[in-house]
Amino acid sequence: MSTTDTTAEIESHEVIVIGAGVCGLYALHKMREMGLDVALLEAGGDLGGTWYWNRYPGARFDSESYSYGYSFDQEILEQWNWTEHFSPQPETLRYLNFVADKLSLRADMQFNARVCAAVFDESAVVWRLMLEDGRELSCHLLLTAIGMLSAATLPQFKGMDNFQGESFHTYQWPQEPVDLAGKKVAVIGTGATGVQLIGEIADKVGELTVYQRRPNWCAPLHNAPIDADTMARIKASYEEIFALCERTPGGFMHEPDRRKLAEVSEEERLALWEELYAAPGFGIWLGNFRDVLIDPEANAEFSEFIAQKIRQRVDDPAVAELLIPKDHGFGSRRVPMETHYYEAFNRDNVTLLDVNKAPIEHITAHGIQTADGERSYDLIVYATGFDAITGAFDRMDFTGVNGQKLADKWRDGPLTYLGMGVSGFPNLLTLAGPQGASVSSNFPPNIEFSVNWAVGLIEYFRAHGYTRMEPTADSEAQWLQEVQAGYEGSLLSTAKSWFTGYNSNVPGHDKLRYLMYLSGSPRYRQRLEAVAQENYGGFSFE
Ligand SMILES: Cc1cc2nc3c(=O)[nH]c(=O)nc-3n(C[C@H](O)[C@H](O)[C@H](O)COP(=O)(O)OP(=O)(O)OC[C@H]3O[C@@H](n4cnc5c(N)ncnc54)[C@H](O)[C@@H]3O)c2cc1C
Repeated sequence: MSTTDTTAEIESHEVIVIGAGVCGLYALHKMREMGLDVALLEAGGDLGGTWYWNRYPGARFDSESYSYGYSFDQEILEQWNWTEHFSPQPETLRYLNFVADKLSLRADMQFNARVCAAVFDESAVVWRLMLEDGRELSCHLLLTAIGMLSAATLPQFKGMDNFQGESFHTYQWPQEPVDLAGKKVAVIGTGATGVQLIGEIADKVGELTVYQRRPNWCAPLHNAPIDADTMARIKASYEEIFALCERTPGGFMHEPDRRKLAEVSEEERLALWEELYAAPGFGIWLGNFRDVLIDPEANAEFSEFIAQKIRQRVDDPAVAELLIPKDHGFGSRRVPMETHYYEAFNRDNVTLLDVNKAPIEHITAHGIQTADGERSYDLIVYATGFDAITGAFDRMDFTGVNGQKLADKWRDGPLTYLGMGVSGFPNLLTLAGPQGASVSSNFPPNIEFSVNWAVGLIEYFRAHGYTRMEPTADSEAQWLQEVQAGYEGSLLSTAKSWFTGYNSNVPGHDKLRYLMYLSGSPRYRQRLEAVAQENYGGFSFE
């Protein structure tokens, strides 16, 4: 395969991968293994993606570390030692650097290389990429690995630029240490990030004020160190760990209990719930009775169990009530896993404010003005999350066939085939992308699957001497129906969250969008494998 770009000065490659996170690193490795001329472009100053950017205190996995690492390389598995069951950000960043060095990936990576626009040139059958630094590159195949949680969203308060203290979004937490001792700190937002941050810094700052709009149902992470013996045992059981992740719907090491709530006695029910609450990780969400995330009554019972836990852990009953969600049931939004989160609110230096009662009016030079008055701070942290799933795509200007803009096509939600490609946007593969299963699961196993599947497709494409491929519009419409079916019957579709496409900080994201494949990773893999076996039916090739 060779590119037909005739513009002499333009750097041109057979394949360009955008993004140097877990997905982009593996994609780069596989393209090189295929002997292709490939370059990787990354907006950040170095590799790591999520684990390069999110340096806020408390940033860590909810996945068990050893279920998150790549599974494809025996030597990496043997040589890398995790030191905590739920690895903190610095260690995960070290791990990804270790992998990149082991596979000698850096030579083909370009950093500080943000791609602003990608235009499909139909006559030359190449993608032309425009970079923020003014450069232009072209490639025959474009692989996006730009992240599902990589477009940070700030709130739209007036005066944010006028604040004279320090302020930043958690995604952009500075690389140099931030001195928190004795500081008056405000945290805006109580999603998964805010919950990790608040639990970590409450005893390290002078005063901490938390601005909460909607509480989330949180559950204890129960992280612990891994000693040498335990790590040796983990290494000996990698095969079973990956097999378990392969068969569970979420790709995690937690399988749903096959029983329904009504099938067990009150004692058995409570025994399982107490066990799950005391156990590490996502078991409380994904290892529960099978109807807890489907049947509203079962869900209400379990939510009440968790509410009681919150009441037991928070000293002030009024604060406890404020921390208990009233607008959605447990697990219908992503469950933030916490460490000392609820106990933080028992501290004298921590205040919880309800912005529904006293909305934030604007940011002042010295702090935050609400309907109740102004409070001054040294540091304001925006833990306001992401324009999830489609944000990184919307922030790039993709132009496909006949000048069609991806942003226009996706205005009411993404349209893809298998979460891997988009009709009208030839030779573009959206690895681990919208409407795929990575984002609804433990990411890395599905990232590996997604990249391996793309490798098969590219091999097929090259073996047949094709120069152009794209999904058909019919196959895309069919996939939308399959994605929608996954939302039906799941309580996940009933709550406004980033799973359902809502984000009050992004104009237009105020309605349900079908963003991810919710019918389980095993089913997703089977479906894609069947497509591969049928010579990639649903794609048109020229
Ligand atoms: C705080 C936090 C905790 C998480 N914990 C877990 C967990 O426990 N388990 C789990 O499975 N998942 C977790 N995730 C999800 C996590 O994003 C994935 O696990 C995984 O890191 C995604 O890898 P990726 O390569 O697909 O994307 P990313 O890691 O997001 O990498 C995408 C890269 O693309 C770059 N990029 C984007 N747009 C452009 C552009 N236009 N030009 C150039 N470069 C661009 C970005 O700078 C970024 O470096 C967490 C996410 C966050 C934010």
